[in-house]
Amino acid sequence: MAVVSGKSSLFYSVPAKNASVPSLSIALILLLVAEGLEAESVDDGRNQLFAGILRDEAVERINQLAKISDADGYLERTFLSSASVKAAQLIIEWMRDAGLRTWVDQMGNVHGRSEALNTTAETLLIGSHADTVVDAGKFDGSLGIICAISALKVLKTNGKLHKLSRPVEVIAFSDEEGVRFQSTFLGSAAIAGQLPASALRTSDKNGATIQDVLKENSFEGSDASLLQVKYDPESVWGYIEVHIEQGPVLESLGSPLGIVKGIAGQTRLKVKVSGSQGHAGTVPMLMRQDSMVAAAELIVNLESLCKYPDRALTYKEQCGSYKKESFSGLVCTVGEISSWPGASNVIPGQVNFTVDIRAMDDDDRGAIVTEFSRQVYQICDNRMVNCTIEHKHTAEAVHCDSELSQQLKQAAHSTVKKMSRKIQDEVPVLMSGAGHDAMAMSHLTKVGMLFVRCRGGVSHSPDEYVSDNDVWAAGLVLLHFLDQHVSGDCMSS
Ligand SMILES: [Zn+2]
Repeated sequence: MAVVSGKSSLFYSVPAKNASVPSLSIALILLLVAEGLEAESVDDGRNQLFAGILRDEAVERINQLAKISDADGYLERTFLSSASVKAAQLIIEWMRDAGLRTWVDQMGNVHGRSEALNTTAETLLIGSHADTVVDAGKFDGSLGIICAISALKVLKTNGKLHKLSRPVEVIAFSDEEGVRFQSTFLGSAAIAGQLPASALRTSDKNGATIQDVLKENSFEGSDASLLQVKYDPESVWGYIEVHIEQGPVLESLGSPLGIVKGIAGQTRLKVKVSGSQGHAGTVPMLMRQDSMVAAAELIVNLESLCKYPDRALTYKEQCGSYKKESFSGLVCTVGEISSWPGASNVIPGQVNFTVDIRAMDDDDRGAIVTEFSRQVYQICDNRMVNCTIEHKHTAEAVHCDSELSQQLKQAAHSTVKKMSRKIQDEVPVLMSGAGHDAMAMSHLTKVGMLFVRCRGGVSHSPDEYVSDNDVWAAGLVLLHFLDQHVSGDCMSS
């Protein structure tokens, strides 16, 4: 990992008070606002929708951030890498341009805050992650950060930033994807007080620990400094996050925006199948204990169980109360498989594979894990192979707060209505099968999430795409949402 020179000037722990906005930025704001207004004012009166900031500038910034990569030819930014430090510097500039006071905490999370008239009011947090996967798309994470900064910039330009009834803070989390340390949510989990001090001793593939990397970047990297990152739940009002859907549902419904009702819980298993290794030419079929074929049967059974869970579970008369509507969002995946010795002329002696099971309801997920385990042992007995199941990871489902979701829904509804000038159907409500920072933040405060349509449901790929107008729509939703927290005002537009 590259060492960054001059990084101490980028990352500082003391909030910079009275951050000034360069005059060039003011000129840019006026220019962009003017351009946006001019472009829209002639036709349909959408000149109040701040296209210059919420669409054109936001898209330009997403593109700018996408150019900051640790790799040549594709996008990759991992926890506190050289590119992550550069990206953080740019985000700080944009936060200051929006009139926010900025600082970087001891886990490398970038914060931009606007204080409120009421200094004791709880803070509204808005965030997403600045890190990426390997060969990433440019919207995953960045969209949420940039839309939030843009919405606050609109409040600044129309003189409402200082009329906020509660402090608003944008956070660009330093790690969500977990690429470098195989440990997700390092940034948001630290803020939510969910990251144990032992996590600092986790190593990357080069043997550098999180602690080493923090120290290289002028952070303390101590147990005590990790504790400083944690927010007091009493000081926080709620957390909202804008994120690309990363799936095909909104596109198929023809809707740019959707409200997230919750984030699926997850179980990860490792199944080890041990048979009898042998010669592919000499062992008769009826005398084999073939671990590969046993694994294949287990995998096909898992697919069937997760496609038709009500059938499998009611048929066995174990869980008579399950209905068709149960198992909302249940998905099961075998993503990794290995065999030993892995030669074309050898009956495999050992096959290992992973199982990823996700569902909105934790009890349903538990029932599937129990039933799958039962089937594994039964099939392995029948085939006279030995099977073990190891539980690698469990995360409980997160349910988004109904009040926050309702407010986001209203904001999304009026956004779609204003942009399309049509009576819209209900804003879709959907679940998230992917984990997000909101999952970690739910341990700190109530959470709400807005999904934005992406083309073909493609994500974690350079083909990831959100249209300019959908970026604009997401910014407008945040602006409408923030209006509810501006004193003596109902609407920015
Ligand atoms: Zn993401």
